[in-house]
Amino acid sequence: MDASLTCAAGLVKIAAGTRCTARRSCCFIAWRRGGRDMVTQAYLDAITGGLSRTSAMPCPSYSIPAGYCQTGRRLAASAPNSACAHCYACGGRYGFANVQNALGRRYQCLTAALESTAARDRYVVAMADSITRAGRDVFRWHDSGDLQSAAHFAVIAAVCDATPHVRHWLPTRELAYVPRVYPDNLTVRYSLPVIDGRPPARHRLPLATIHSSQDTLRPDAFECRKPYQGNACKACRACWSRDVPLVSYALH
Ligand code: SF4
Repeated sequence: MDASLTCAAGLVKIAAGTRCTARRSCCFIAWRRGGRDMVTQAYLDAITGGLSRTSAMPCPSYSIPAGYCQTGRRLAASAPNSACAHCYACGGRYGFANVQNALGRRYQCLTAALESTAARDRYVVAMADSITRAGRDVFRWHDSGDLQSAAHFAVIAAVCDATPHVRHWLPTRELAYVPRVYPDNLTVRYSLPVIDGRPPARHRLPLATIHSSQDTLRPDAFECRKPYQGNACKACRACWSRDVPLVSYALH
């Protein structure tokens, strides 16, 4: 076995089991454990842009700028009663420079991942490794932003396939990018466009909606528990369950 290996960044040779002493700012460190080359979280973050963390969720998530939402942008501009016109990811802490920078970094990483098969594979492995390292039973896609293309959905599906021990939830308004068949551990929830909107009579995906008051909360909806439990999901996993056909969130 080779006693040395090139660091994960491909910059320097280091001895297996030791740390890089090149003192480069990249801080990528490679070492070998159980015959496998290991990489730091910093290395994975350089490929994926890093996971995001919100206090309300029981897990990390992945988000890109809401400004790239294709349907969302149209709705926000044309429908004042749309959920997108009241998007929480267009203000509040999402407006802070550090959050905007992180969102933009992830979008660049995602765009790079869609450019070639090799880049896509590298991204999928790095995302799957990051999600596994987070050690949670669930993962959320897009607390901000939405699907960009069918190829984007295929990348998410590949990450789900690579993490069968985790349940994934993807809320979306981009129905056209969602195929008929996708991994069992992924719940794709179609977000109804209008606040207090009526669900379509027929739909192929579980749904999510927003109610403006208790009077407009639909009797057939599962009401989001967060307002009653410190704005946190805690043990609730309704959004991740395909068996919950409609989740309704309070407008805030
Ligand atoms: S319905 Fe449950 S899982 Fe979904 S956001 Fe609300 S508390 Fe969290």
